[in-house]
Amino acid sequence: MKKIILPDGRELCYILVRKRVKNINFRAKEDGTVLVSASPKVSVKYIEKCLAERADFFFGAFEKLNKQKQVFEINTKSIRWLGKELPVKIIENLRETAVIDEDECRVFTKDNSAENVLRLIEKVKIERFKTVCAELNEKVRNALRSKGFEPPPAVITIKDMKSRWGSCSYTRGHISVNIRLAAYPRETVYSVFCHEYAHFWHHDHSKNFYRFLLELYPDYYKYNNVLKSG
Ligand SMILES: [Zn+2]
Repeated sequence: MKKIILPDGRELCYILVRKRVKNINFRAKEDGTVLVSASPKVSVKYIEKCLAERADFFFGAFEKLNKQKQVFEINTKSIRWLGKELPVKIIENLRETAVIDEDECRVFTKDNSAENVLRLIEKVKIERFKTVCAELNEKVRNALRSKGFEPPPAVITIKDMKSRWGSCSYTRGHISVNIRLAAYPRETVYSVFCHEYAHFWHHDHSKNFYRFLLELYPDYYKYNNVLKSG
């Protein structure tokens, strides 16, 4: 790592990598250094002149990167689980695992970095959400039977989806549920199950589809509307 002293006394650290690039490339890094890749033809003197000229830009970028990091760290202090905000408690331990309880999420780990904590939480979330989905799947199937409809066999898959909460491939008998639903109340997740199951009988979003859906789950709108408002 090299260092230049700016006219106002500030220090700017950089790492120089010689590469077959056209001229010079700069990248501000989270640790407050600048990564410089430059062609072997470019002199160190010229590189340092460029760095000094762009110093204000780099210091601005370091600040921005640090703010993003802080947000990331704050986000591991609590999680949203089935409509509740649960505080995250980190317990130093040799086990690498997380547990979601009624009123808190406990993470057992030796490595309390935000990245590792989030990884452990995500893992337990998926496991727990699978159980929730299995229960809700039974619930909707029983509800359908009680209305006189025999549901076809269905394979439930939990996925991370960008633009939809659930989907139903009625020909193959596959229902996908978005893992992001784990943040919402159980009734909201159930509303998605009812919606997707209704597609086995009505493939579109016609009036008949909604009539069927509301008969299956009269509180559908009450709990599903939270998904539309974000
Ligand atoms: Zn639909």
